[in-house]
Amino acid sequence: MRLRLSAEQEQFQEDCRAFVDREVLPLANRMDREEHTQADLIRKVAEQGYLGAVIPRSYGGCQLDYISLGLMHEQTGRACSSIRSLLTVHGMVTLAIRKWGNELQKQQWLPELASGTRIGAFGLSEPNIGTDAKSIETTAELVNGRYVLNGRKKWITYGQIANLFLIFARCEGQPTAFLVERDSKGFTANAIDGILGTKASMLAELHLDNCEVPAENLLGRIGMGLSFVGTHCLDYGRFSIAFGAVGIGQGCLEDSLEYTSNRKQFGVVLREHQLIQKMITEMIVNVEAARLLCHQAAYLADLADPDFMMASWKAKYFATSILRKITSDAVQIQGAFGCSTDSNAQRYFRDAKIMEIIEGTTQMHEMIIARHAYI
Ligand SMILES: Cc1cc2nc3c(=O)[nH]c(=O)nc-3n(C[C@H](O)[C@H](O)[C@H](O)COP(=O)(O)OP(=O)(O)OC[C@H]3O[C@@H](n4cnc5c(N)ncnc54)[C@H](O)[C@@H]3O)c2cc1C
Repeated sequence: MRLRLSAEQEQFQEDCRAFVDREVLPLANRMDREEHTQADLIRKVAEQGYLGAVIPRSYGGCQLDYISLGLMHEQTGRACSSIRSLLTVHGMVTLAIRKWGNELQKQQWLPELASGTRIGAFGLSEPNIGTDAKSIETTAELVNGRYVLNGRKKWITYGQIANLFLIFARCEGQPTAFLVERDSKGFTANAIDGILGTKASMLAELHLDNCEVPAENLLGRIGMGLSFVGTHCLDYGRFSIAFGAVGIGQGCLEDSLEYTSNRKQFGVVLREHQLIQKMITEMIVNVEAARLLCHQAAYLADLADPDFMMASWKAKYFATSILRKITSDAVQIQGAFGCSTDSNAQRYFRDAKIMEIIEGTTQMHEMIIARHAYI
């Protein structure tokens, strides 16, 4: 199967590549070291329309098809996994409102999310709850016409700067989704520093201490939080991370091709050595295979085919698993330089581990894909 993009998709991919090469890649290692994303860069990402990528035009977005969404995540993932994470979580929040919001909620939030006036963040994980999401401990109770939320949310991507949080809490005993503004009474966000990878993604722990939100900020219905809203978001998140992982693999490959064409040892450039050629070959084949799985998922999503869900599980599993070897080889090929903070390889190597943990761990994928085979 050869991938054939439409002329529009090809142009979009080229524009996206040019944008990240010009604006994102030159900053990526510095932002990683500083554990901070520059506000100016987020503004430029918004100007490109990427924050409104899943939002319909009628609400100020540019609602891309799934192939184009994938291309956007691959290109940003190649440059900087933190910026790709921003697009992932912001996209998950906007998608949730697009799909489960009522007309008033769409009008209230989507234009601001599309323009970047609002940054969305996804608040599911808690100090005691990760994979077993249905056991969340945060609670929500209706008191005098307002919901009062209590609990902690942990590892929240861009939680340091986001101003609209999709928070999952137990309401009447059932997981339920709420939109919580940063300036809500009883809301605080504390920075989490020192994470292994996606270091510029400005993680935060959220404290909801009798945090009050208007009753209208309930998204969907009570009890729909995980099985509908959360699942829909996580399917999209998984899809975007699969493409982002292909981007990391592609970045490793491109850097390795360049380095091995210039660095000489034993009188010849590294690319003349057969053991280096083996590593390059494995990178090429695995990145192409992962990209094909991703495009299959995107193709099915554009058809609204229910097989999209399993296709995205497979794509995320394969694309993130192969990064273990690809990113390790990218460091190996560059030797000591690959271990330095001047090289993208060491950043790719650390970011790759994160890809195996977020939006469903590798182990969850191994169980779900196998179980599905028996259905
Ligand atoms: C950089 C980063 C960004 C993140 N951003 C967000 C965010 O924006 N919003 C958010 O809500 N969360 C976020 N998370 C949290 C992420 O979703 C969780 O880390 C993930 O769901 C896994 O949960 P856990 O870390 O608590 O691991 P646990 O669930 O405690 O699992 C620990 C280990 O046990 C394994 N395991 C668990 N259950 C089983 C089982 N039944 N069988 C076999 N093995 C099992 C897991 O695969 C894993 O290897 C982020 C995490 C990171 C690292």
